[in-house]
Amino acid sequence: MAHYDTAVVGGGLLGCAVAWHLARAGTRVLLVEKDQLNRHASGQNAGSLHFQLEYRMVEHGDDAAREAARALPLHLDAMRAWAGLEAALGEPCGVAQRGGLMLAETPAEVAALDRKAALEREHGLDVDVLEGARLRDLAPYLAESVRAAAHLPGEGKANPRLVTPAFARAATRHGAELRTGHRVTALHRDGGRWHLHAEGRADTADTVVLAAGVWTTELAAMADTRLPVFPVGLTMSATARTAPLLPHLIQHVGRRLSMKQTPEGNILLGGGWPAKLVTRQGRIDLDHNPELRYESLTGNADAARVVPAVMHLPVIRSWSGMTTLTPDQLPLLGAVPRRPGLYVATGGSAFTLGPTYARLLAATLLGAQPDLPLDGYSPARFGALNFV
Ligand SMILES: Cc1cc2nc3c(=O)[nH]c(=O)nc-3n(C[C@H](O)[C@H](O)[C@H](O)COP(=O)(O)OP(=O)(O)OC[C@H]3O[C@@H](n4cnc5c(N)ncnc54)[C@H](O)[C@@H]3O)c2cc1C
Repeated sequence: MAHYDTAVVGGGLLGCAVAWHLARAGTRVLLVEKDQLNRHASGQNAGSLHFQLEYRMVEHGDDAAREAARALPLHLDAMRAWAGLEAALGEPCGVAQRGGLMLAETPAEVAALDRKAALEREHGLDVDVLEGARLRDLAPYLAESVRAAAHLPGEGKANPRLVTPAFARAATRHGAELRTGHRVTALHRDGGRWHLHAEGRADTADTVVLAAGVWTTELAAMADTRLPVFPVGLTMSATARTAPLLPHLIQHVGRRLSMKQTPEGNILLGGGWPAKLVTRQGRIDLDHNPELRYESLTGNADAARVVPAVMHLPVIRSWSGMTTLTPDQLPLLGAVPRRPGLYVATGGSAFTLGPTYARLLAATLLGAQPDLPLDGYSPARFGALNFV
């Protein structure tokens, strides 16, 4: 049995990034991952760095959008964080922030785009709604059906296959111990310390960070507490390579779409198209990737018609993954009430916002005052679920 200042459960982007911050501050860190690092959402996602409110945040009306806008301070911070990330980690992560466009095709969508942009500007996001020649000059590849687009220069993409391993290597350089292939099966507090059991080993730590993605609720239950996190299955597709066509991140204000081009030339299609969660004996089986749905593949392809040059490209690969949503779509970030020394980080767009979540959570663990208020994302808002 070894003792650590902090044990991090989960070797995705959040776990590896928190481990890096804590290790470079000189604390003893253990990270435990049941599979390989970056095996799940952090390595399967679309790699979009989207700082505008997403479609899922505006599709339920202005009140819901205003609620989602409570996370915009994190978006602003993350936009700056990604710009300096490769230098901070000392290796390339495929970060390219050449701007993002959220498209509108109908008058109602243009009105929604204007309302969204006004809300974002209230929070300090530099969003400009472009129409006519300004739009065509910036994005000549767009279909004629596109009437307007909200432009944010700091949006872009990063490579999900590179980011988490880069955090992990940086954490290791600072002395963090990363243990893969170890599934945490018990977690309890005794004698003022947390005890973690994984694959026959038992270790202790003063603090524990749950960075376990869709498994967060399961881990929380081991600590006899409830954290409401819901798994969602998502779909991605990649086309064959083509010549440079799309410098921007493309989203749509009226339908599910994210589109970008990799440095190799493939177009990645996503944007929230569902995949079917696998159930076994009536329960969601989180250890199986969700099943692809034909309607999602065709719906996603159809949404891509806003860039006509993409329509003739064959799709060469489609895949699914799972991500977490909280009931209010906001992040779940901070200390778990009534469980001294237990922290959680999940929910929301945790690739785009991951570096920011990790920095702020690590500051909290290190006893510093985070430079952005985290109260609005605290698990304490679900305190009614936890009366023990
Ligand atoms: C298809 C898809 C597209 C997406 N696109 C985007 C996007 O473009 N932009 C964006 O911001 N977000 C996107 N997301 C969401 C984003 O990927 C996730 O929010 C983010 O990667 C979450 O990181 P994480 O570290 O919290 O979780 P994960 O990467 O899932 O890591 C959690 C880790 O915890 C480990 N673990 C769980 N239980 C245990 C245990 N008992 N013991 C040990 N280890 C355990 C798991 O094995 C896993 O490796 C997308 C997600 C998907 C699936």
